[in-house]
Amino acid sequence: MSAYDLLIRNAEVVRPDRPGTERADIAVRDGRVVLVAAGIPESDAAETVDAAGRLAFPGVVDAHQHWGIYSPLETDTAQESKACAQGGVTTALTYMRTGQYYLGKSGPYEEFFPEVLRLSEGRSHVDYGFHLAPMTREHIEEIPRLVDEHGVTSFKIFMFYGGHGLHGRSSDQSSFLMTPPGERYDVAHFEFVMRGVQKARAERPELADRISLSLHCETAEIMTAYTRIVEEEDRLTGLAAYSASRPAHSEGLAVTIASYLAHETGLPTINLLHLTSAKAMDAALRMAGAFPHVDFRREVTIGHLVADVDTAHGIGGKVNPPLRSREDVEALWEHLLAGDVDWVVSDHACCREELKFGEPKDDVFVAKSGFGGAEYLLPALVGEGRRRGLGMDRIAALTAWNPAQRFGLGSKGTIAEGYDADIVLVDPDASWTVRAEDSFSAQEYTPFEGMTLGAKVTDTFLRGRHILRDGELLGGPTGRYVSRPSAAPHA
Ligand SMILES: [Zn+2]
Repeated sequence: MSAYDLLIRNAEVVRPDRPGTERADIAVRDGRVVLVAAGIPESDAAETVDAAGRLAFPGVVDAHQHWGIYSPLETDTAQESKACAQGGVTTALTYMRTGQYYLGKSGPYEEFFPEVLRLSEGRSHVDYGFHLAPMTREHIEEIPRLVDEHGVTSFKIFMFYGGHGLHGRSSDQSSFLMTPPGERYDVAHFEFVMRGVQKARAERPELADRISLSLHCETAEIMTAYTRIVEEEDRLTGLAAYSASRPAHSEGLAVTIASYLAHETGLPTINLLHLTSAKAMDAALRMAGAFPHVDFRREVTIGHLVADVDTAHGIGGKVNPPLRSREDVEALWEHLLAGDVDWVVSDHACCREELKFGEPKDDVFVAKSGFGGAEYLLPALVGEGRRRGLGMDRIAALTAWNPAQRFGLGSKGTIAEGYDADIVLVDPDASWTVRAEDSFSAQEYTPFEGMTLGAKVTDTFLRGRHILRDGELLGGPTGRYVSRPSAAPHA
């Protein structure tokens, strides 16, 4: 019998806590890394893969996806998890809530969440977990049980949902959210969600640093007013119009409201999701200065780092918050390089063509919001990051270690003894052109169409299983639901 199930030889191993890379072999047994060292004998392993000098990154922990938002959850789990494997994403944390889209129903999570688990079970090619949004008063009461019994340790607030339509025009929000009569999804509700999450933390001090709240920061009133102005002026079209209809200060204002509420409620674990603009970043950093006792984390998406309103391929690039100007893209990179960003995500929300575009097809305000991109997250960040001087170790922290730590994935996020053998091989010199038709995602278009990415994911390993080889998917779905917080390896 072999000492190791798998040996990945001749890799340039990238780790979040070590600058540069280290030429080494990685030995795996029972799904975990057992040794990282040079010159491990091939004869000790049942299977050997020669990395031939490619980079070995820890599997990407993509902390922001939306499985089941526009297609049935079972369909997205099966198909979009393939796009994950293709991009080296080995753990997807995906947002889920009651109301329209997703399962299209309401009710307590005690009934809803087991159905979510049942629909996704056995279909995913990568490991996965769920963030849940407390939409009602009843949901706030359920937070402790979601933590203790269902392994959900992260929650979400969509700050604009109470007053502005998901896709740009206001509509009847209570029917969209399917909240009970008399309940409002407003700032007061957000306050009570924070109090609920903080209460759960206070009652579980040993888990408290891994229980957190994420916020989508946009302000409904600002967006409703500016949408009217942009439509009346009729000067801008496409993605530029959409960006102007949801101006950056709408993000900044929401960030300040969220931050003050965190201070007021004593909830320190706040994740500010997908900040898109210089103004949003500025607001987030001002709040970090004003409330040093709040442990803010700041998220950016790969879409906002590589595409702007002019370079994205058509209104398929409609997303909330919107793609911005080139100046905002450059500002995000400055913040990323300065260490102001904690993690980078895809915000993968597969929206198929037939659903994405409305009538007329080129009207950005009738199109749906969101697009996929998990398959481009790591290659785009490595390619563009290299060009801009972002260290590979920082990329490992931004795509794996930092989100794993925050979201209670104790056995994931690095390549080290005892950790899950979630490993991605990346060719840092393989430049290629994005074509939606080459993606494993069900989405038939991409705002990244035609872009040249400077690095390529060739192989992906999930807990030591080879799930992507030379860009081809291997085997069936072996991803598991990760109940959080999951244990860290013993040192
Ligand atoms: Zn999202």
